[in-house]
Amino acid sequence: MKAVMETYKRLNIAPTEGRGSWLFDEEGNSYLDFIGGIATNSLGHGHPALVGAIKEQAETLIHCSNLYEIPIQAEVAKMLTEATDFDKVFFCNSGAEAVEAAIKLARKHASDNHGPDKYEVLTFSKSFHGRTYGGLSATGQPSLKEGFGPMTSGFVHAPFGDLEATEELVGPQTAAILVEPIQGEGGVNPAPDGFLEGLRDLCDERDALLIFDEVQTGAGRTGHLYAYQGIGVVPDVLTSAKGLGGGVPVGAMLAREEYSALKPGNHGSTFGGNPLAMAAVRAVLGVVGDPGFLEEVRFKGRVMKNALEKLAERVPGAEVRGEGLLIGLDLADPDLARSVFEHCLDEGVLVNLVGGTTIRLAPPLTVTRTEVRLALDTFRGAVDTWMTDESETADIRLEAAVA
Ligand SMILES: *Cc1c(COP(=O)(O)O)cnc(C)c1O
Repeated sequence: MKAVMETYKRLNIAPTEGRGSWLFDEEGNSYLDFIGGIATNSLGHGHPALVGAIKEQAETLIHCSNLYEIPIQAEVAKMLTEATDFDKVFFCNSGAEAVEAAIKLARKHASDNHGPDKYEVLTFSKSFHGRTYGGLSATGQPSLKEGFGPMTSGFVHAPFGDLEATEELVGPQTAAILVEPIQGEGGVNPAPDGFLEGLRDLCDERDALLIFDEVQTGAGRTGHLYAYQGIGVVPDVLTSAKGLGGGVPVGAMLAREEYSALKPGNHGSTFGGNPLAMAAVRAVLGVVGDPGFLEEVRFKGRVMKNALEKLAERVPGAEVRGEGLLIGLDLADPDLARSVFEHCLDEGVLVNLVGGTTIRLAPPLTVTRTEVRLALDTFRGAVDTWMTDESETADIRLEAAVA
């Protein structure tokens, strides 16, 4: 990796093959993948429907550009609009690009309808909206911006979950509120009860667009095609990416008809909505769009959450957050979280650590019930090991918790 720029702190494992929920390296080691390419491998690895669709499309037509009509793009847009409350789709290639498109659409809509002074975009603490300047300016994590200033102007941040503080920052200048229904990178933090409803009301009162960033929570991750459908608050604009292509890079911005302010020449993407990516999305939606499949995602999510909640009861301050197959096990103590993470890695179970204390789980949506049990055994073992070691050294309080 010497010639690769060091933008990632990489683990010392090198998977070269995948099947279902499993990854394999060239030495013959196998790993149970409970992070699924960071919530992207929605159908696991090597899913025949996805692989077949990509192969067939690659042999037919990979790319031809948005200078022409692309029938498969129209078909996938129709699939998405029919399965949601939206009427129009813009395709791009990543989450950050979908967020960029949403910000541009909101500002254009505000400028067209209310004049040039309505451009502010309000976002929240601990949010993550991507690494481009628009997405980074929107992101509510100051550490990610250090050394990259100045940010794009016109972004304000409110504390996530605090409706009163948000209300004070929303005014006639507000073009949009941008929010993740469940913050992913920020530590798997679901919006508290009533918060999203409150944002919906604020947007209606102030003629601002409500944008849900569902890049991580979308494409079936929470057991609904989009998380908003489980919550019951309908945004005006929604961004999707990560799991949408099952590992193939693709992003989408969905909007209601009345807010589709972007016109020819306003925005674009050379690769956006290309036939190859569209074939992948069509295959993913073909599997994930099935109500029975989503029901099973919710079931597996509940099993995992219940078991993890039992585990969390044994750890002072620990808690479990999330929905469907996006779950965070917050262990409250960074040393414990790191130890659990490393134990999992040693046992060949891949998870990821966010916000210092939270183990994030985002397995393929196709994960089997047996694999869920296997992973849960590993998590229990990891906590047991740490508690045993700790109690040996000093902590009697924790020893009592184990017994
Ligand atoms: C991952 C993520 C992004 C950025 O997506 P990229 O594909 O990495 O550009 C944006 N928003 C949310 C909520 C995400 O989880």
